[in-house]
Amino acid sequence: MDPVRFYSDIIKRNMDKPEKVNKLINFGLAAAYYYVNFFKDKRSPKSLHYLNKYCIKSIKDSLKNPQNSAWVNLFSPCEFLIAMDIKPLFIEAYSSFMSGFFIEDYLIDTAESRGISNTLCSYHKTFIGANELNILRKPEFMITTSMICDANMPTFRYLSRKYGVPLYIIDIPYKYSEEALIYVKNQLLEMVKRLEEVFKRKLDIDKLREVVKIENKTRTVMKEYLDYLKEKTLLTSMTFEMYMLFASHVFIGSREILSFYQMLIDDIKRAPERRGKSIFFVHLLPMFEKNFKDNFNFNNNFHIAGSDINYDFLGEIDEKDPFKGIAEKLILTSFNGEINRKVTRIRELIEKVKPDGIIQFCHLGCKQSIGGTFIIKNLASEMGIPFLYLDGDCVDKRNNQEGQNRTRLEAFLEML
Ligand code: SF4
Repeated sequence: MDPVRFYSDIIKRNMDKPEKVNKLINFGLAAAYYYVNFFKDKRSPKSLHYLNKYCIKSIKDSLKNPQNSAWVNLFSPCEFLIAMDIKPLFIEAYSSFMSGFFIEDYLIDTAESRGISNTLCSYHKTFIGANELNILRKPEFMITTSMICDANMPTFRYLSRKYGVPLYIIDIPYKYSEEALIYVKNQLLEMVKRLEEVFKRKLDIDKLREVVKIENKTRTVMKEYLDYLKEKTLLTSMTFEMYMLFASHVFIGSREILSFYQMLIDDIKRAPERRGKSIFFVHLLPMFEKNFKDNFNFNNNFHIAGSDINYDFLGEIDEKDPFKGIAEKLILTSFNGEINRKVTRIRELIEKVKPDGIIQFCHLGCKQSIGGTFIIKNLASEMGIPFLYLDGDCVDKRNNQEGQNRTRLEAFLEML
């Protein structure tokens, strides 16, 4: 029997015992961490192996230390948490791991049975389901933003009320202006005050400047990596490309992430010249969908040439005034504001990476993703690059039509 399925069955049989399930999940993460440590996948380059360990460890650490943890979403500014030694747990990652453990269906059904709409994004439903079953221990603080994701604010508000845990929602204006910048900066200052009160420690501004300095350095290396993508082929997998979200967002500014990108540069320098067909992804990659795994994981013929969500901000953060610099980043990310901003970033990335095709996987329940599909399709046809969009679910495997996906994906790849 498949050990992961066996483990998942044990968890499901014990769902009425939250303490036990909590321990089983911590055990599963610890086992995954030691497995990855001792059995390196021969196909994965050194950098991605390192990232794999880092991602599992970060989830494991924040779950084990709820008294020193804050729940966040992917776009929350975690530089402050890194500088204050607080462990962030981002809900999208937690839900992805639960899908990896094959228990997302149970958690989603629980959320829906308690009144959560079935049209809510499954990253959120999975996380809410885990909380409804009391599997998670409450953190000390929660942070989210108003941008991009319409599911964030209601989910975080609900969880904050459920546990009586303070929540800070950063309101991000659509348009960039000096006024908007000051407005967001003031919120960040206020948020840090709350963090200081809750965690009973002061933010060291020099430490924050150091985090921002590392973040800027990391982005320089990241851009260097982008330059290599058009001429080299570094074989990777759907999961690794999604793991990059830990590096490009929540943990950017940490020394480990800078080391990861430096290793990635070494790996891509050593990689062979470009061969096969390269595919650029818009937004998310369905890392559990069988056809995508079969066609893209470490495949010489079709390989992943990045995803725009990992390059939503490529500017530099002001090191002298990090509050203002981070506010600027939040407003200017290509996922905030009008769709044109996102389209411009995708165009820039495509011009740089020169992929052979573009795929947009429209994750069920994500209005921001589905809403822009035809505008991005028009961009692709204007640039003369084949474009495919497919509907499905990155977390809830039951929502993926494997047969239909196979037909459309294989026809697209054959055409390339
Ligand atoms: S997929 Fe869309 S709805 Fe779901 S968490 Fe991400 S941005 Fe929000």
